[in-house]
Amino acid sequence: ERTYGVSSWGGGYFKIGENGNIHVVPDQNKSDTKIDFASVLKEINDENVQFPVVVRFHDVLRSQVVSLNEAFNDVIKEANYTGRYNGVYPIKVNQMREVVEEIVDAGAPYDFGLEAGSKPELLAVLAYNTNANSLTILNGYKDEEFIKLALLGRKLGRKVVVVIEKFSELAMLVKISKELDIEPIIGLRSKMRSKGQGRWVGSSGDRAKFGLTISELIKGARYLESQGMGHTLKLLHFHIGSQLPDIRAIKDAVNESARIYAELHKLGFKLEYVDVGGGLGIDYDGSQSTNDSSRNYSLREYVADVVYGLREMCDLEGVPHPNIVSESGRAITAHHSCVITEVVGEIKPEGVDLDTVATENEHVLLKNMRYLHESLSENDNYQEVFNDASRWKEQASQAFSLRVIGMEELGKIETLYWQILRFVHAYYQQADFVPEEMQDLDYALSSQYLCNFSVFQSAVDSWAIGQLLPVAPLTNLHKAPVKNCSLVDITCDSDGKIDRFVVDHVLGKVLPLPELKTDEKCYLGIFLTGAYQDVMGDMHNLFGRLNEVHVFSLEDDPEKFYIEEVIKGTTVEQVLSIMQYHPSAMALDVKKTIDKEVALGKIKPREGVKWTDFYEECLGGYTYLRTEK
Ligand code: PLP
Repeated sequence: ERTYGVSSWGGGYFKIGENGNIHVVPDQNKSDTKIDFASVLKEINDENVQFPVVVRFHDVLRSQVVSLNEAFNDVIKEANYTGRYNGVYPIKVNQMREVVEEIVDAGAPYDFGLEAGSKPELLAVLAYNTNANSLTILNGYKDEEFIKLALLGRKLGRKVVVVIEKFSELAMLVKISKELDIEPIIGLRSKMRSKGQGRWVGSSGDRAKFGLTISELIKGARYLESQGMGHTLKLLHFHIGSQLPDIRAIKDAVNESARIYAELHKLGFKLEYVDVGGGLGIDYDGSQSTNDSSRNYSLREYVADVVYGLREMCDLEGVPHPNIVSESGRAITAHHSCVITEVVGEIKPEGVDLDTVATENEHVLLKNMRYLHESLSENDNYQEVFNDASRWKEQASQAFSLRVIGMEELGKIETLYWQILRFVHAYYQQADFVPEEMQDLDYALSSQYLCNFSVFQSAVDSWAIGQLLPVAPLTNLHKAPVKNCSLVDITCDSDGKIDRFVVDHVLGKVLPLPELKTDEKCYLGIFLTGAYQDVMGDMHNLFGRLNEVHVFSLEDDPEKFYIEEVIKGTTVEQVLSIMQYHPSAMALDVKKTIDKEVALGKIKPREGVKWTDFYEECLGGYTYLRTEK
């Protein structure tokens, strides 16, 4: 448990069961319901679904929607707060239809709404957020079509709020709503002085991309008033960045927004909502700290700071408590899905060992290295051993380039070098003090496990911004892991790797994993991929979307679940078509070429048919490696 920290980052949804397998507790309110990952793996294999696979736990998604809404409702009640909570889910965090449908359904009792930040998202939200009591919040830059679509929503009786991100959008909105004679609901996004923290710090401050300055907020409100539309200004919005690690940033921003809300109120603009945006973080590394990958607060604390922060300022200013909107996406979706990849090979830094028995006329570099190797057990200064070995290895590669030694000698020198390093490493693993340079040996000697997936498709933030995602084997976690490894994917790109892990609560470059066996599959889970990772990935090297299984728990049976749906990942044909190829024409061309070879007698007719079929089968197949069952 300590090694992988499953329950620290698991958010109550992932735990290690008594049999050493990771168990999913899909509903926090029914903690006796557990799904053993070993059974999920078995079912995926039984259904012949090829790995890598995305597993979605829809119950987790529902549970997160309920927890968020219940937390706000509880604190609002406890604080005698007179406004309501009207949360929305920003679909950009995961736009998958099944995810949005599930959130809308689970949120229906709370009038939980949706947020869109682009025209395509708005079109989806208009079709899926049909509850007249829930909000539809529209952020992002807008054109005339966007605004017309928003007004269509108003025509359909929905509470669509157009949030103005830049000043010039206001005049466009006023013009179009007057032309169409449809009254909009308007929100203004404030450019905040309160700074967020972490990776998305750029969402606030003077250089923020979105939002109105204080002068623009005042001017905007007065402009609406001058147009006879002051009463349509209903919402004040802010968002200081996603994954806020420190609660203090949230407190400051709530305080600042409450001041602006109160001032606008006193200027005669009776706003009804304050929208605190997203930012509610996830504890990816389980440290409960202000690390970029963590958060130093709980859901309850976050909610309390929003509710009490607003109440305090409003009471001081003598203005009504506004309804509260939040746009949490990451916190709702991160836990509900994970990627299961299979380890398909091991890349060792030393390659394979050569026979290093002494021969005649050896070069002195090889002799030196062998002598160092032979005297290891008598030595007591292993830092010196390491320095000598490293120097001779470097000299050997220069000597090879200068034609002083041959390939065989270089190979032997390298074999001895790696054996020496392993010895030195083993020594320092037992030592009380490890010099700084020796601490890197762990990484230098670690294997790379080759995993059947693409970082660019399934864990893009880990490549793009160094985001930490928890990785762990799914089964047998009670057995001591034996091998320190980093992970590499199957793309032809050296950036396609994962080498940031939290092990025993410490950030490192390697993860201890089981030894690979020829007769046993080794599956690894990349967790908390439900937010952003699920949808932001790219088809680098033409690796497409993953096969997906949707897992639901069965209510009357605490140990059981069923795979409700299998969604096939992208086929080769589909990725090629996206790149403007014509797969059926390609298949025909290949067939014609094969037929020609058959006519020339270079391929036998039966063999020709087999090759033609094989090409077509691969076109219709999965883009990832096919492994033996
Ligand atoms: N609202 C806005 C305006 C955003 O830009 C974002 C994401 O950055 C979100 C909500 C979602 O934030 P989070 O995923 O941190 O909840």
